[in-house]
Amino acid sequence: MKIVVHNHEQSHVAAGWIWDCTKEEFFDGWIEFENGRIVAMGRGSIPPATPLFRGIILPRFINHHTHLGDSIFAETIRATVRTMDLRAVVAPPDGLKHRLLASAGKEEIVKGIVQSLQKMIYNGTGRFIDFREEGIQGIYCMHEALRTPLADAGITISLPSGENARNARETLYGDFTFQDMIFSFIFGRPASLTCTPSEIERILAAADGIGLSAYADWEHGDFFAIAEEAHRRNKLFAVHVSEEFHEPLDEILDAHPDMLVHMIHSTRKEWDVVAESGIPVVCCPQANALFDLRPPIEGMFQAGVNVMLGTDNAMLIDPDILEEVRYTFYHYPLFRKQGKSGFRKCLRMALPSAGKKLVSLEPIEEGKEAHFQVMTLPGRNDYSHPEHILAGSSDGGTGTTSESITIKPVVHGLVRENRIFEIL
Ligand SMILES: [Zn+2]
Repeated sequence: MKIVVHNHEQSHVAAGWIWDCTKEEFFDGWIEFENGRIVAMGRGSIPPATPLFRGIILPRFINHHTHLGDSIFAETIRATVRTMDLRAVVAPPDGLKHRLLASAGKEEIVKGIVQSLQKMIYNGTGRFIDFREEGIQGIYCMHEALRTPLADAGITISLPSGENARNARETLYGDFTFQDMIFSFIFGRPASLTCTPSEIERILAAADGIGLSAYADWEHGDFFAIAEEAHRRNKLFAVHVSEEFHEPLDEILDAHPDMLVHMIHSTRKEWDVVAESGIPVVCCPQANALFDLRPPIEGMFQAGVNVMLGTDNAMLIDPDILEEVRYTFYHYPLFRKQGKSGFRKCLRMALPSAGKKLVSLEPIEEGKEAHFQVMTLPGRNDYSHPEHILAGSSDGGTGTTSESITIKPVVHGLVRENRIFEIL
């Protein structure tokens, strides 16, 4: 991976299909931006100047659920996972993942996280919500990975030519790290299934919130004490729910979670309750499919639940949220049968949610900060039907499985703060 930094002081134009964050659809147009802010926008295919980037323009994706700490075990796990059940692989305290984590060195875990961060930046992910195991030490591993200089991961940064380049090298990019490129929400959890108030206090001081394993793993009293402490400190609280078997949602909601993960074995009545509450539910259909599990995304979506997508354990599935969008589109007939509009509904599940305290969306509008990304395909000038391109379908979207994907956006013109990064 290589990052090309473009000169940001002058005005630039990007053109193509732009995601309208309000209508949740694409329109053909252009954006003029200067010093990190959108100064003008227009519809139609004739921009006011030659575009620096032409392609599909949309907010950077958010991956709503990852466990990046297990990235380093991908090779070991993927070779055997299809022969094992879910509990044997991921359940604490003795699941394979937890045994591997306990035996791995900190350096190894950090190295794996760095590899996943690199993949996410490359595939257009601007934010991610990670559930870290292993208590406070696990959170420190994530901090260390995020603070790793890009140069240490073998990423070269090509600076703009001109007189400011030397300055830029010394002042801006000398210690450029992963956290300059991607925004993290870290949800920690106690190191074991029993915990003390002081451990919870340390975790909450170092993380954005608490993300517990299955509700059924926890002592009733501990579960509610942890949730209460998270809320008291104005941090977030999330939990895995009904992944392996049904768990009582009404009890779980008494802990006022900010986010629920999975809800595979949930009921229609529960979908209505969650829809009413507005609590987002994160689904990870690709990872679930490895254990012959299928989240009821269609039912929840139709009930009005705020469904979001995540990629779950990096040891099982690469943290590529656009692949998760594609998988959802091709494997859930409700969306696939609606064609482009169905794809947009799936795409929406990988974008930040407007108005939510966790992940508010930066709309692509005049006067707003230029935080969008431009996805382009090498050698391609025609970006009509952006849904087909993003769905990876070269046959006009008639493919029925993700195996039909033959096109993949590989270049991102990323605009962040007041600089422009092109990721190659
Ligand atoms: Zn999970």
